[in-house]
Amino acid sequence: MARFDAVLFDAGGVLVLPDPLVLGPLLARYGGSTDLEIHRRAHYSAMKAKSDANSPEGSWQSYDDEYVDRVGVDVVDRAEASFVLGRTRTAWLWRWMIPETRAALDVLAAGGVPLGVVSNASGQIETVLMREVCQVGRGDHVEMRCIVDSDVVGVAKPDPAIFDHALPFFAEFDRARIVYVGDSVTMDIVAASTAGLHPILLDPYDDHAGADFERIRSVGDLADELT
Ligand SMILES: [Mg+2]
Repeated sequence: MARFDAVLFDAGGVLVLPDPLVLGPLLARYGGSTDLEIHRRAHYSAMKAKSDANSPEGSWQSYDDEYVDRVGVDVVDRAEASFVLGRTRTAWLWRWMIPETRAALDVLAAGGVPLGVVSNASGQIETVLMREVCQVGRGDHVEMRCIVDSDVVGVAKPDPAIFDHALPFFAEFDRARIVYVGDSVTMDIVAASTAGLHPILLDPYDDHAGADFERIRSVGDLADELT
């Protein structure tokens, strides 16, 4: 028997990333690389820096500083580049679909695994995701039972109450058998554990080796296990 009955996903860092096709040229002015892989890697390193600093959801200074370092911005330009990154990376820029995740979502959906999204967002995430990733119910992309946006429901991670807006769509399952996949220790792992779900950190670069929670390298790992 499978370990889990259903999977909920964080959006930022799991389904989509801050668009490297915009941020690459933006930071190239300061000596940053435009290489996609370097930007992808920078995101996860920056998320770890944000968690390590115990930054609240609305504070992205640690993230921005680490991100510009990781893409190779010149030291002398670090502060300006970090400021410009913070001003440019709006909610709507979290839009670059992670291709491996999309492929894994297709496998999970084809295997009949019930899926949903719970995101700290700004009222935009359902619209962004429906272009290439997923929608509620049937449509052009992956079918989700729900897409919860913190701005719409009025509660955000790490408050576990945000899951109350998703769990009614999965009422036939025991909470402990529902996975929540996220990329933030302080937001996702904490909120999902407190809510009684099974948290898993998406940690593609093994940045959190030795952590006392479950980690996967790719959503494909979960698709392999559950289908
Ligand atoms: Mg995230």
